[in-house]
Amino acid sequence: MSTKKRNLLIRLLGVLLGVLVAMIALVAMGMIYMGLSRPYYNPHGYRNACIANLKQIHGATASWAQENKKTNSDTLTTTDLYGREAYIREEPKCPQGGNYVIGSVQQKPCCSISGHTL
Ligand SMILES: [Zn+2]
Repeated sequence: MSTKKRNLLIRLLGVLLGVLVAMIALVAMGMIYMGLSRPYYNPHGYRNACIANLKQIHGATASWAQENKKTNSDTLTTTDLYGREAYIREEPKCPQGGNYVIGSVQQKPCCSISGHTL
């Protein structure tokens, strides 16, 4: 192999290596971005998503009470809140599998997982 061909080959390998490193870096950055942009990537994300659900349930409870002329001590069931014709179309679920308890109008809804509170 002549020196000219060897130099060309080395240069070509250098370029290929550079492209490979750049592609790996891009994929790694994409994976990091996807990881950070997913809402449930850490326990705080789960907690915040659950609290957002509780706020939605709380707001729907207040609307239900007002529209149906209910008092603070009145209790409601999931069928009052969830469904096509109700206040929330689909029943919200805790992202960590906790159960929601909806008491009376004056009580805040809560989740069975500690820390998931309004
Ligand atoms: Zn929860």
